[in-house]
Amino acid sequence: MVSSGINIVGLSIKYNQQQVLDEVSFSLEPGKITALIGPNGAGKSTCMRILGGFVKPDSGHFLIDGQKKTDFQSLRENTGYLIETPDFYAYLNANDNLKLLQSIRTKENRVKELLQLVGLSDIGTKKISEFSKGMKQRLGIAQALIGNPSFLILDEPFHGLDIEVKEAMMAIVKKMAKERHKAILISSHLLSDLEKMADNFVLLNKGIVHFTGDIHQIS
Ligand code: ADP
Repeated sequence: MVSSGINIVGLSIKYNQQQVLDEVSFSLEPGKITALIGPNGAGKSTCMRILGGFVKPDSGHFLIDGQKKTDFQSLRENTGYLIETPDFYAYLNANDNLKLLQSIRTKENRVKELLQLVGLSDIGTKKISEFSKGMKQRLGIAQALIGNPSFLILDEPFHGLDIEVKEAMMAIVKKMAKERHKAILISSHLLSDLEKMADNFVLLNKGIVHFTGDIHQIS
């Protein structure tokens, strides 16, 4: 239980009689990276989609600033979300993609700052159709941050990236936690990707939480 941040309590969902999440509970703290780990099919994406407000759970609630809430869609207002392959308008450049999203999400102008943060300042005028996968992932992080959210949900953000791009992305994510105090939930089916960067771990298997805490304490 954390006093600031968010406590997720008893998330459950079934798809076609299959219990995909079974009373899943964990907490996200400001300034901390929490890794959601587990094998393929464990329920990580489903959990993240619920927290992103895209899927409604059968049951469960969350506590934010001590207040109990059941409407997960309301989390969208203060949550940035990066799915495995982020979507953009391919015929627009990076600048314009972010500006478009910004016009919907916020009155603040954060495009320049965010492009700088993710290391894309020099190629803001390049069309997305010319972007590599790594560049799209970086822009995906900028996109997730556009509304200055308190929570950041990153679903397999390193999938398919080569080692150098992956390390650059990891550094950006760490900066988001340590310097901007975001509460970050990040998933990967590769524990080795997250071992060096996460403060806390939530180990999920077949929809059940088997461990929460510091992974180095598993004996
Ligand atoms: P992970 O992200 O850990 O690989 P998922 O959350 O994607 O796991 O999937 C967990 C289980 O839920 C899988 O067995 C998957 O087939 C099932 N599942 C996920 N989404 C749906 C859906 N929309 N309809 C039916 N089954 C689903």
